Order: sequence, then structure tokens, then C-alpha cells
Amino acid sequence: MSPTFAQLGVPDYIGRALAQRGIVEPFEIQSAVLADALAGNDICGRAPTGSGKTLAFGIPLVANVDRAGPHKPKALVLAPTRELADQIMTEIRSFAGGVRVAVVYGGVGYDAQRRALRRGVDILVACPGRLEDLIDQREVSLSAVDRIVIDEADRMADMGFIPAVRRLLDQTAPEPQTMLFSATLDGDVASLTRDYQHRPVRYEIGEETPDVVAADHLFWNVSSTERTEVAAEVVSAAGSAIVFCRTRHGCDRLARRFDRIGVRAAAIHGGRSQNQRTRALQAFAAGRVEALIATDVAARGIHVEGVSAVIHYDPPGDHKTYLHRSGRTARAGRGGVVVSLVQPGQVKELRHMQRELDLQQPLTDVDLNAVRSLDGGASRPTEPAVAANPTRQPAVDSQPRRADGKPRHPDAKQRSRKPERGRAKNRSRRRRSNNRRPRPAAARRPMAKTGA
Ligand code: ADP
Ligand code: MG
Repeated sequence: MSPTFAQLGVPDYIGRALAQRGIVEPFEIQSAVLADALAGNDICGRAPTGSGKTLAFGIPLVANVDRAGPHKPKALVLAPTRELADQIMTEIRSFAGGVRVAVVYGGVGYDAQRRALRRGVDILVACPGRLEDLIDQREVSLSAVDRIVIDEADRMADMGFIPAVRRLLDQTAPEPQTMLFSATLDGDVASLTRDYQHRPVRYEIGEETPDVVAADHLFWNVSSTERTEVAAEVVSAAGSAIVFCRTRHGCDRLARRFDRIGVRAAAIHGGRSQNQRTRALQAFAAGRVEALIATDVAARGIHVEGVSAVIHYDPPGDHKTYLHRSGRTARAGRGGVVVSLVQPGQVKELRHMQRELDLQQPLTDVDLNAVRSLDGGASRPTEPAVAANPTRQPAVDSQPRRADGKPRHPDAKQRSRKPERGRAKNRSRRRRSNNRRPRPAAARRPMAKTGA
């Protein structure tokens, strides 16, 4: 039995606000972290995307934060992207009661942000660049900040924000409580922990990488001429999808093509204004568009409920990118499908990436039934947006998959990740049978507490 929020020390008013949103039972990272974080300890948490980290740090912030004076927030949450910062603010506000939460990031005007800071913000959620601008303009000072969260520290590092993060951490009150969360805890992230955390309590949940195995992974041969059509069919079969393209231009072009063949789509990339990006995201979250077409940078940290499918329209640059992209679906214990559209010249790279990730699914012909029959797919069968290509062969791997409506493997055992050499032996057998079962959500996996 996992403890309840109340048993972990969460104040009643927060518990009630969460219950109104249907959040009644803590996820694993929350059970692991809340008591220590509420007690004011430093936290260093590794957990995959979708495991519920926002509440793990948001609840202790709201419960403990003091009232801020003008320009001097008391708690700071650093996040790598605007979308992520917005999502954190929205999530925290949902149970914040009288605690004032505001967000600052670049790409939008300064006025509203300045006004909020002047009035006083208890918990400030910020992207590093804009926060440094506002500090230079003397609109905000971090001197009263005694609680800090560094969210998605690994992405912060990927995006080159570590020097800025260090400069910001150097300006806070002495010995603040720091809570750091990341999908990986090595490299730059390890040095942040070493230099800025005081005997952090460490929690590590799931594997070193975001949990992609909760989703079903499909790899299909497509020619360049049929790629758009196949992607559109996947969107229709799944009900909604995030489609990844390599370039901004590629995103815009695909959005136009989708439009022409009747798939409602919106593009989101760094070339679009913050307003356009926010509108695209809202339209997608509300179901007004079926496909969100994104570049890798734009999609970092996006969380939209119930994304049924991720489509790798262009191949990811490397296996880490595959994980980040694929982690947009099958979140919070739900199913999802990840489809890679592989063109003839891309097979070698694909094999390499699959080896890195230990994903052994075969490269097959297009098989839309594999998408439709998944519980991550649309609940009602939808007509393909365009007529299916009649010459297409069914994929070799077309055994029915969990069309029975049962929950996904609630008691599936955790399969421990073996070292590379030990795995090689099993590989051919597993590839043949290809019956690797999706594991339960990372949040339900056994957790290792590695320090205290
Ligand atoms: P992460 O930051 O680890 O990627 P989030 O904090 O964004 O994950 O949480 C993912 C989703 O799960 C959010 O929609 C959040 O509201 C939901 N969620 C978090 N905790 C719970 C819970 N205990 N019960 C139900 N839903 C939850
Ligand atoms: Mg998060």
C-alpha cells in the first residue's frame, strides 16, 4: 500500500485541491520525495518523463513558501523551455490557494512580467535567459530566494543553460533548499549537485533514460513519396499525434500538406512567435487539431494529456532524441504508440539507434492495424484521411495486440536492464518472437533510494 498524500504530510487544503482534479494517490516519485522535501531537505531525483515530478516539488514549495515582498520572490523554479515553465505554473496554481505563482520567459513582452514582480510573487517559475534580463533591469532580485527547483536539469545542460543556472544559484539567499530533477544525473548535472546541493536525498526511479518502453514502438519502411500520406493515416488511426520533423521549414511544409489532405494540424517551432506556439499547443490539447508538428527544441518538456501517438517523420538525430520525442506519449501510465517512418537510406542509422536503445522490433511494411488495435489508439475506428495504398502488405508482425480492452499489464514484472554484453545472447530469440511486452508505467516501478 502506498501512503496517501495526507500520510506524507501534505496539508489538507492541497490534498483537497488535488482531489478535485482526480489526483488522489501519489505516484512513486511523489511517495518517495514528498516527506523529505516537505521537511526541507535537498532532493536529487532522477525519474523519467511523465512520472509526476511537478507535484513532487510543487507541493513542498506551496506548503512551505513564505510571503514575498515586491521584486523579491521567495521560491524559484528554473525550467529549460517556455512551454515547460507554463505547464509548471499551471500545475502549481491548481492547488496553490493564496500563494502567488508567476512565470517569466523570453519571446513575450516584459510588461506583464514586470507588473507581477512588482506586486510580489511567492513562487517564480522562470527560464534562465529572461530571468537574467529581469535581474539586470533590477525588476527582480533573488536575494530572498530560499527554495529552488531545477527541473529537467539534463535538458538545461543540453541547451547550454548550465552557466546561467550557476550564475542564478550564486545570487540566492545562503543555503537554500535545492531540489533538482533530471532524467539523467551524470556530467554537468552531477557537478551542479556537487557544487550546489547540501547532502541531497537521492531518489532514482526507473532507468537512466526516459521510459519509452511503456509505449509500443513500430518501425516502418516508407518511400519518400508515401511518407506524408502514411503519417496522415497514423494520425487518423491514433486520433492524435505529435509529429517530429528535423527543421522548421519541414514542419511548416508538412502542416500545409496535412491541411490539403484534410488532417487538421498546427506547427510549433522556434521560428514561430510565443503566441503562435501557445495557440498551437492549446489547439492541440483541446483536440481542435489532430496533429502537432514540432521540431525537437520546440517539443522539449511539452506535456499534453492523452497523446496517442508520436511519429518520427524525420529520423531523430540520435538515440537520446528518440527517447525525448517518444516520451511525449505513453505518459502517466497510459498507453501510446511510437511510429518511425524509415526511408531506404536511413536503415543503417536506425539499426545503430535500435542497438543503443535495446529496441528490437523489426522494420516492417506499413501496418495501420497495429496502430488501431492498440489501446493507445483512438477508441472508435476512424476512416483513414486518405485511401490506404492497396498494394501494401500486412506487416510480418501483425499479431493482435491487446485489443481486449484490459488494462495494460498492471502486474507485469520489471525486467531488469542487463549490461550490454549479457543481452546479446538473447537478442536473436527476442527479435524472432517480438513479443516484448510493454512494461507498466515507470511510476509504478520499484524505486531505489540510494542515500539519505
Ligand atoms: P514529469 O514532470 O515527471 O514529466 P508531470 O509532473 O508533468 O511529469 O506529470 C505528468 C502528468 O501526470 C500530469 O498531467 C500530472 O497532472 C499527472 N499526475 C501527476 N501526479 C499524479 C497523481 N498522483 N495522480 C494522477 N495524476 C498525476
Ligand atoms: Mg516535468
